Amino acid sequence: MSLLWTVAQQKRLSELNASETQKNMSFTMAVEREAAFKQVELLLVNEGKRRLNKLRNETRRPELCELEARLVDALTGTGFVQVTTPVILSRKLLEKMTITDEHALFSQVFWLEENKCLRPMLAPNLYYILKDLLRLWEKPVRIFEIGSCFRKESQGNNHLNEFTMLNLVEWDLPEEQRHERIVQLAKIVMNAAGIPEYSLEHAISVVYGKTIDVMHGEIELGSGAIGPHFLDGRWGMVGPWVGIGFGLERLLMVREGGQNVRSMGKSLTYLDGVRLNI
Ligand code: ATP
Ligand code: MG
Repeated sequence: MSLLWTVAQQKRLSELNASETQKNMSFTMAVEREAAFKQVELLLVNEGKRRLNKLRNETRRPELCELEARLVDALTGTGFVQVTTPVILSRKLLEKMTITDEHALFSQVFWLEENKCLRPMLAPNLYYILKDLLRLWEKPVRIFEIGSCFRKESQGNNHLNEFTMLNLVEWDLPEEQRHERIVQLAKIVMNAAGIPEYSLEHAISVVYGKTIDVMHGEIELGSGAIGPHFLDGRWGMVGPWVGIGFGLERLLMVREGGQNVRSMGKSLTYLDGVRLNI
């Protein structure tokens, strides 16, 4: 009979970002397993220390910040303008996105007080700003924001309660070019993120209806939408547009071959992907 890691050992190996091969090792005897665990743990601890040293002596910035900087460069270099909007969102703006009581996302919203919540997405603020920019600037208007969003999640490896979203929107382009443009924009982001392998898939979103998702295997990295869209009218806006939202922690998890988004996000237990209790 073959033995696998104990539950406690499995947990520790996951924390230390062990590879699938390391997590799936099997043994014939308990002593053999204990010895192997010590060895693998030491290897992973040393790798963690090496990465922390690299952070301290070379890069000096977590990958999350580096990725944000690369995305800003790539997008501003392609004509997009960066905006920054508040993390605190009014109930009114959320309602404008049709996120009310019976909406699937509603139960995931963190409320601060009756009429204020932490934004679960960037789109309401981008719509708000775009309404004025479309009046002030010549079209096409291209903007993006990178910032924290908050959703109550049942956790798992791909979900954080606080994550970093990139949302870009290009308002006004020839209708027949919208799909091609989504493909191009996804490519710009995926190149900047250093992930050459991904696919685009049609999916259904609770907010946008039909979406074009950027996938890496089973993991959703981004969701793209195409307008005119039924939400536009609520903001008094018309016209063809394309937009995509990406989660930066998921991009990093995939690029780094990490096992969970937690290690790549804003955290007290991880620094730049490395568990601090090593
Ligand atoms: P999922 O179906 O995986 O929960 P979603 O479709 O609800 O994601 P979107 O609203 O499309 O997510 O958000 C755009 C992107 O933001 C997602 O593709 C993902 O990369 C990222 N994202 C969404 N929710 C989270 C979360 N809780 N933690 C980390 N990243 C997230
Ligand atoms: Mg989605």
